[in-house]
Amino acid sequence: MCSKDEPLACQGPHEECGVFGVYGDIEDAARVTFFGLFALQHRGQESAGIAVAQDGDIRCHKAMGLVTQVFDEEVLKDLKAGRIAVGHTRYSTCGSSVWQHAQPIVCDSPRGAIAVAHNGNLVNTEELRQRLMRAGGLDLSEANDSALVAHMLAQSKHERLEDALAEVMPQLQGAYSLVIMTPTELAAVRDPYGIRPLAIGHLGDGRYVFSSESCAISVVGGHFHREVEPGEAVIVDQNGLREIEIMPLARRATCVFEFIYFARPDTQIYGRTIYEARRRMGHQLAREHPAKGAHIVIPIPDSAVPAALGYAEASRIPFGEGLVKNRYIQRTFIQPAQTMRDLGARMKFSPLREAIAGHKVVMVDDSIVRGTTTGKLVHMLRDAGATEVHVRITSPPVRFPCFYGIDMADQKELVAALKSVEQIRELIGATSLGYLSLDGAVRAINLPKSLFCRACFDGKYPITVPPEVQGTKMMGNEPPPET
Ligand code: SF4
Repeated sequence: MCSKDEPLACQGPHEECGVFGVYGDIEDAARVTFFGLFALQHRGQESAGIAVAQDGDIRCHKAMGLVTQVFDEEVLKDLKAGRIAVGHTRYSTCGSSVWQHAQPIVCDSPRGAIAVAHNGNLVNTEELRQRLMRAGGLDLSEANDSALVAHMLAQSKHERLEDALAEVMPQLQGAYSLVIMTPTELAAVRDPYGIRPLAIGHLGDGRYVFSSESCAISVVGGHFHREVEPGEAVIVDQNGLREIEIMPLARRATCVFEFIYFARPDTQIYGRTIYEARRRMGHQLAREHPAKGAHIVIPIPDSAVPAALGYAEASRIPFGEGLVKNRYIQRTFIQPAQTMRDLGARMKFSPLREAIAGHKVVMVDDSIVRGTTTGKLVHMLRDAGATEVHVRITSPPVRFPCFYGIDMADQKELVAALKSVEQIRELIGATSLGYLSLDGAVRAINLPKSLFCRACFDGKYPITVPPEVQGTKMMGNEPPPET
């Protein structure tokens, strides 16, 4: 999945952000937000930030690094007086120095400060930039889509946040789950397609939590209430909670990859627990692509564990651990020395020879992006003595890039956009290769296919991507090979 030139932390598809917010009579909103972000760390490891409403203004601390690297006791004590807070954890393109893109973004406006945390990606960023620069006379040439949204809200002449949102949201094209704060209120806002998840929870007594994933609500002692509806703004202030339909529902199109890979197993989306959905994907995968005569089913830890358990249950092949993961690999963006480059996946995974040697192995993973890492893992298992390696993937082939907030790869780097399944099998050196079908994936989630964005598999983008934006990641007009 990772090209040789990428740091180890860049392997595989990446979620672009986690957002979190808390409101109410809470002694230390920044600390609650810290633990919320800690639970959302898997959604972004590049930078983290927390903004708090304090004395009629907004204070913010953000820096590059993991949540535990960015915040310590001293920093949290400094933010302690806040009763409202928003937080953000971010992943972006590896290698670039992007402190200025860390979030929350805080802007001054005639109505006071505003802080915005964004998960997703807009597809009309350039158009918005030009419009804003013409109107406001600001130099926003370096601003990303999240900063543009913050500036648009700050520049709105409307007094009330919901009116500013009603002015701004129809101008935004793309995926956005936002948590927004002013010195007196907190809002959660979701695009009319609901591409990225966003949940509401309560802590009791008029205290509310907004979070990218429901798992973080439980972590801070809250109760999951419901998801923010597509096109909805949920605003909480001293008068309580207001639920406002700002934009009519366009079409529900939640990212199916949240179920396959991104979201934490203890999160709920569409009323389904991610863990159970992945386990059933494993059942379905075993039905679609059996591996008769195999001795052991092993997962690529950690995200493929529930699916491998499901595959083992349905196939009656024993489940076992065959690869040990270095769980701290995400903590480094340091490039391996040139002499270590070819070790690649070995720095992240080590084989358990006793479990593998002399066995026919089924290796379950969630996706193949570039194919590089999968090939290295297959060779690792063979080197450890596996006599056969049957690769089973709990997603369909990824043949199209994502424009809605997942850093997958450009289309020319996606191995399934260039090669057939048989060619990929040959490339990675597997005995056999089977991908879960799209119908099988949604059947396992037990919801209609129409509720999901699945554009990276079938190329049907629910939100139109302008040709000039498509051109940044797509190959020409040649369709990818049929699989
Ligand atoms: S294109 Fe793929 S990764 Fe992107 S939102 Fe749609 S399903 Fe998710």
